[in-house]
Amino acid sequence: MFDVNKIRKDFPILSRQVNGKPLVYFDNAATSQTPQQVIDVIVDYYSNYNANIHRGVHTLSQEATDKYEAARHTIQQHFNAKHAYEIILTSGTTHSVNLVANGFVSLLNKGDELIVSALEHHSNIVPWQMLCEKTGAILKVIPMTLEGELDMDTYSKLLSDKTKLVFVNHISNALGTINPIERIINQAHQVGAAVLIDGAQACPHIKPDVQALDVDFYVTSAHKICGPTGVGMLYGKEVWLNKMQPYQGGGEMIDQVSFEKTTYAGLPHKFEAGTPNICGGIAFGAAIDYMNAIGFDQIAAYEHELLEYGTKKLLDIEGLKLYGTSKNKTSVISFNLEGIHPYDVGTLLDKMGIAVRTGHHCAQPIMDFYNIPGTIRASFAFYNTKEEIDALVEGVKKAKLMLS
Ligand SMILES: *Cc1c(COP(=O)(O)O)cnc(C)c1O
Repeated sequence: MFDVNKIRKDFPILSRQVNGKPLVYFDNAATSQTPQQVIDVIVDYYSNYNANIHRGVHTLSQEATDKYEAARHTIQQHFNAKHAYEIILTSGTTHSVNLVANGFVSLLNKGDELIVSALEHHSNIVPWQMLCEKTGAILKVIPMTLEGELDMDTYSKLLSDKTKLVFVNHISNALGTINPIERIINQAHQVGAAVLIDGAQACPHIKPDVQALDVDFYVTSAHKICGPTGVGMLYGKEVWLNKMQPYQGGGEMIDQVSFEKTTYAGLPHKFEAGTPNICGGIAFGAAIDYMNAIGFDQIAAYEHELLEYGTKKLLDIEGLKLYGTSKNKTSVISFNLEGIHPYDVGTLLDKMGIAVRTGHHCAQPIMDFYNIPGTIRASFAFYNTKEEIDALVEGVKKAKLMLS
């Protein structure tokens, strides 16, 4: 059974105080907290087998290599990739998107079209704008609706035989909207376009199956699913990864090097130049094991309960406006108080020990759409409680009194 009080004991940070108050951590969409099980793996690595991988014949190097490759295998199984070598370990979502965007430089021609959505994080916008500058490809945008959903009719109209790539997020980090990615992928494939899904915000809540989705690329970061920062993954279909040029050159990614000609290593090493975040990769695997032991169905059901509870309670506050009201959303609540700057509310909440995010959430086009400078965003994880939501609601009420 799902027992939140038992789960909370796994997270040492949740028992600390901030400004003399118990910490209420509601900035999970920016980064999640780390359970002792994952911290132990990190300590074990540096205490017992820290070594470079894939090169040494010595015992430590073998142990580190085995654990790193075992983590890749865990990630492969979690996402149901066909082959372990289709999992490229990167420094995170941003790195993964840049890797694909650079890999496509030689695959695009002037006038080719790429489709992005209005709901994206900057890391799924800017690398593609840079790709367009390099290749002369044109970027088209799927608009959003007032509820914070994608306008799928316009999407259908944007697709044509000129479309080469579509990239959207699985779940919006700013609003929590779950996008209809099955439909997006199917329709793109009908015109022969490849699809990249930014799963950074989905993986804390959902277990994606890349083969069932038939997605070409799926990217995510470990630090949003109870793992460390600075590590993430790119899943790519073998056929695409073979077509793409390597992003960075260096050690690990080569087969033979001479000054006349260098040949590249096979997958996944072709895209993994240099010494990777070895400890981070191993801890990424441990984080996935931790989440699976709790179970994604249980996590999603509990978080949905928190979302409904929090939404209802916050909406009781007069002058509070919600952004992102899709029926299909995860436990993210973005809101503002009429006439009050989100930053001021966030600062007062911090004084009460409550951590929320304020600002544009790396999604300025969404804020422009609503014509606001930003929002206050409370994002819940499976280790949060209704009592913490009560504290947030009281805090927002107090802040409103003080600021109006
Ligand atoms: C967090 C996030 C990113 C960026 O992840 P990094 O770990 O900073 O590279 C990209 N897209 C979405 C939807 C996110 O939530």
